[in-house]
Amino acid sequence: MSLTSPGRVLVVGAGMVAHHLVEQLVARSPEGEWQLTVLGKEDAAPYDRVHLSEFFTGRDGSALTLSGTPWLDPRVQLRTGDPVRSIDRDARTVTTRSGRVEAYDHLVLATGSWAWTPRTEGTDLPGVFTYRTLGDVEALRDWVARRTEELGRPLAGAVVGGGVLGLEAAAALQTLGTSATVVEFADRLMNVQLDDGGGEALRVLVTGLGMDVRTSTGATRLGAADDGAVATMDLSDGSSVPADVVVFSTGVRPRDRVARESGLAIGERGGVVVGPTCRTSDPSIWAVGECASFEGECTGLVAPGNAMADVVVDQLLGGSATYRPAADGTKLKGVGVDAASFGDVFALTPGALEVMFADPVAQTYRKLVVSDDARTLLGGVFVGDTSLYSSLRPMLGRPLGADPSAFLAPEGGAPAPGPDLPDDVVVCSCSNVSAGTVRAAVTEHGCTSVGEVKTCTRAGTVCGSCVPLLTKIVSSTLESAGVTVSNAMCEHFAMPRAELFALVRRDGLRTFTQVVEAHGTGRGCAVCKPAVASMLSSTNAGHVLEREHAALQDTNDHVLANMQKDGTYSVVPRVRGGEITPEKLVVLGRVAAEFGLATRITGAQRIAMFGARIDQLPAIWRRLVDAGFESGQAYGKSLRAVKSCVGQAWCRFGVQDSASMAVRLELRYRGLRSPHKFKVGVSGCARECAEARGKDVGVIATEKGWNVYVGGNGGFTPRHAELLAEDLDDDRLVQVIDRFLAHYIQSADRVQRTAPWVAEYPGGLAELRRVVVDDARGLGAELDAVMAEHVAQYTDEWRATLDDPEKLRQFVSFVNAPDTPDPDLVYAPVRGQVRPARAGDDVADRSPVVARTLEVRS
Ligand SMILES: Cc1cc2nc3c(=O)[nH]c(=O)nc-3n(C[C@H](O)[C@H](O)[C@H](O)COP(=O)(O)OP(=O)(O)OC[C@H]3O[C@@H](n4cnc5c(N)ncnc54)[C@H](O)[C@@H]3O)c2cc1C
Ligand code: SF4
Repeated sequence: MSLTSPGRVLVVGAGMVAHHLVEQLVARSPEGEWQLTVLGKEDAAPYDRVHLSEFFTGRDGSALTLSGTPWLDPRVQLRTGDPVRSIDRDARTVTTRSGRVEAYDHLVLATGSWAWTPRTEGTDLPGVFTYRTLGDVEALRDWVARRTEELGRPLAGAVVGGGVLGLEAAAALQTLGTSATVVEFADRLMNVQLDDGGGEALRVLVTGLGMDVRTSTGATRLGAADDGAVATMDLSDGSSVPADVVVFSTGVRPRDRVARESGLAIGERGGVVVGPTCRTSDPSIWAVGECASFEGECTGLVAPGNAMADVVVDQLLGGSATYRPAADGTKLKGVGVDAASFGDVFALTPGALEVMFADPVAQTYRKLVVSDDARTLLGGVFVGDTSLYSSLRPMLGRPLGADPSAFLAPEGGAPAPGPDLPDDVVVCSCSNVSAGTVRAAVTEHGCTSVGEVKTCTRAGTVCGSCVPLLTKIVSSTLESAGVTVSNAMCEHFAMPRAELFALVRRDGLRTFTQVVEAHGTGRGCAVCKPAVASMLSSTNAGHVLEREHAALQDTNDHVLANMQKDGTYSVVPRVRGGEITPEKLVVLGRVAAEFGLATRITGAQRIAMFGARIDQLPAIWRRLVDAGFESGQAYGKSLRAVKSCVGQAWCRFGVQDSASMAVRLELRYRGLRSPHKFKVGVSGCARECAEARGKDVGVIATEKGWNVYVGGNGGFTPRHAELLAEDLDDDRLVQVIDRFLAHYIQSADRVQRTAPWVAEYPGGLAELRRVVVDDARGLGAELDAVMAEHVAQYTDEWRATLDDPEKLRQFVSFVNAPDTPDPDLVYAPVRGQVRPARAGDDVADRSPVVARTLEVRS
C-alpha cells in the first residue's frame, strides 16, 4: 500500500508515539513509495519513557531504547538532538534549531508534553529536578552521587506530587539511597485514580516502604544551604522538611509552542486541536500523542497516543479510520506496592453501585463499580493486590457474569474472567489488541509462545499489565489447536520455575540482573521478578535488604517487620520451640514497657509486641539482639515457628522429647526462605497437643520414634497434614524433613504453600514419598546439600542489619521531632494495654510508641 498523495512525511518529535507511528507505517506499507523523516529534540533515539524508572535499577539509557527496526528501512530517517523551531505552513517546510529546512507533504506533530512545575520560590536551585526525560534521570543520579559525597551523609529527598509518577520518582530516590518525603496537595495519594479507601490503603503500604507521606499540603518555598543548593522545603501546613534533592512531579502540559506560533488551532487547556481523523486545523498537518487535544482533552498515557498514530497511518494509506478515546486503566509500577484502577472509579454513573472488600490484615483494598442492576462492570480499584486488574479491566462496560462480591471474596469466589473472553474484548489497551487478534496470532500466524504473540501483535509490550491474561489466552488457544503448550515461566525465561531454580543454584547467581543475563531476556515482568526474588532468598544470595534484592522484596520484608493496621509495626523475636528463660521474658517486658508496646502471646508460642514506629525498630532490635534474641521472621516467606508441647520432659503421657526436637528443628530451619511461609509442629504423643497436623510439617511422637505429616495448614482452607513416613529415629526424621522442604522450595510455584503443592504433586503423595523418603529418583544427596548449605550460611537478618549503616537507612523517621507523638497514631485503652482507635472510641491522645509509660484515658 502506498500513500495516497505525494509521499514526504515529516514527524516532529521522536518519542514513544512517533516510534509507534513509524513502526506501523513500515509494517502496513512494506513496499509503498514514501519517505519519512523523524526530527527529535532529545539526543537519544526514541526510548521507553514508560519504564524510565528502570534507569535506577541498573538499566542504562541504551537499554531503554525502543526497537531500532523501523530505522533500518531505507525510506525512514531519524535525526535527533535538533528540535524544530518553526513551521512555515505556506511553504510546507519546518526549520530546526541548527537552521536545517525540511520540506513535507504531510506533517505529523508528536511533540509530547513537558513537565510543569508550580511557581514555588526556589525551584531554580541546584538539586531541584523534574522527572520526564533520560536527561532528567541522568542529572538526578549524578546530583545524588555528588551531593552525598559533599555532605558526607545520606541525602534527604522530597517529591512534590503524590500521583503515579511522583511515587515512581520517590521510589527512585530511595533506590539512590536518599530518604523520600512525598508531598501531595490533595487529601490522598493517586487522587485522580483512587477513591478514599484506595488512597488510604495505598498510604499505609507506601509508608511501609519508608516513605514519609504528607497529604493535604503543598510546597510553598524551597530554601538554600550556604553553598546555594536546595536544603529545605517549607509546606503550606506550616511545617518544613529537609530536602537535599527535590523532584517535582506536578503534572504535564502539552508541548504546543511551535504549533501555536504557526497559527494552528490550540485547545483552551493547551494542545493542538485535532478531530477524529487526527488532522489539525491545517489538513496537511496531523497531531498525535500527548501534544494533541481531542474534544478539549490531552492524554497522558501511551495507549491513546498509539491509537491516534494508528489512525494517522491508516489515513495516510487511504483508509478511513477515526480516533475514539477508549476508557483507560492505570497501574502503579516500579514502586514496590500494587495499585491499579479503571473506569468509573468514583461511581459517578447515575445509580452506580459500589462493592468493596478491604482486608487490613492482608493490606488489600478492592472495589468494583457496577450498574444499578449489578450486572455491568463500570470500574474497579485495587490496592495491595492487583491480580484481578488484568482480567477484569477488559470487561469494562460488559456483563460481569457473576455477583460482583464473588470476585472480591478472598477465597472460593467467582473465578476471574479467563481465556474464553469474547473476540472483541480489548486485552491490551496500550496497543489496542483484542482477544480475537491474540487468538488469530496463534491460529493464523503460527505463533507458539507469548513472546511470539507479543512480537506479532505488540500486545503486552508497553505497560505489561495485561501479560497474565495474555498468557492465559495464548495457552488456551494453543491447547485447543493441539499445540504443545510451552511451560516457560514467562516470556523472559524459557524454562519452568523449577528448572530456573536449578540453574540459579548451579551457577551461584546472586542478583536478578545476573539471572536475566545468564538465562533470560528483557527486563523481567510481574511474573518472573518476584519468582526470581524468592529463588535468590532461598539460595542464600545475600541479605534481603541488599540494594538490588531490596527492590524485589514485599512490603514487610523491606523493614523486617509486619505492618499493622495503623501503620506501626510488630516485633516478634524467635522463641525456639516455645521455650524461653525467665531472664529473656524480663527483657521482653522491659523493652515493651520502655517503648510503650502492647504485648500478646501468639498462636505460635511467641511474644509479639505491637505499635513500634519504623524508626524505633533498630533501637528495639538492638536491645533484643544484645539479649540473645534473633529475628522471628514473622514478616517473611520462610519458617515462622516450630510449635511444641512439653512432651516427655514434663508430661506423663509423652513418649518422646518433643520440646528438644522442636528446638532442633527450629534452629535448623530458621531463616529458610521458601515460596510461602511454613510452620512446623511437634507433639510428644498421639494426643497432639501441639496441633502438629495443622502445620506444613507435623511431627508426632510414637513409641518407636516419630511420624511425620506434610501439607497441613489453617487459614481459609484448613487442611490436615498427611502421613509421609512412620517411626523414624531422630536423624532420619531430620533428613526426611530436610528433603521434603528442599524439594518443595525447588519445585513449588511462586507463593504456593505446601498444602496445594502436596495436593497437586504429580503422582500424588505416594510419588512424593518415593522421592523424599525412598530417594527413588536419586535426588537425596542434592536435597541434603541444599539444606546443609542453608544451615551453614544462616545469619540473623536483624543482627546483620544492625551491623550495617547502609541497611539501617531503610528505617527513617517520619516525624521531625522524634519525641513528639505522631498525631496520626491514636489509641484506645483495652484490658490494661492499648489498641489502634476506631471510630467512636474513647481514645487516648498519646501515641504509646513515644510514651515511656502508657497513659490512657479510660
Ligand atoms: C516516568 C514515567 C512513567 C510513565 N509511565 C507510564 C505508564 O505506565 N503508562 C502509560 O501509558 N504512560 C506512562 N507514561 C507517559 C508516557 O510516557 C507518555 O504518555 C508517552 O511517552 C507519550 O508519548 P508522546 O510520543 O506523545 O510524547 P513523548 O514520549 O514525550 O515524546 C515527545 C518527544 O518530542 C520531542 N519534542 C518536543 N518538542 C519538539 C520539537 N519542537 N522538535 C523535535 N522534537 C520535539 C520531545 O523532546 C520528546 O522526545 C510515563 C511517563 C513517565 C515520564
Ligand atoms: S501431646 Fe502428648 S506428650 Fe505432648 S503434652 Fe499432649 S499429652 Fe503430653
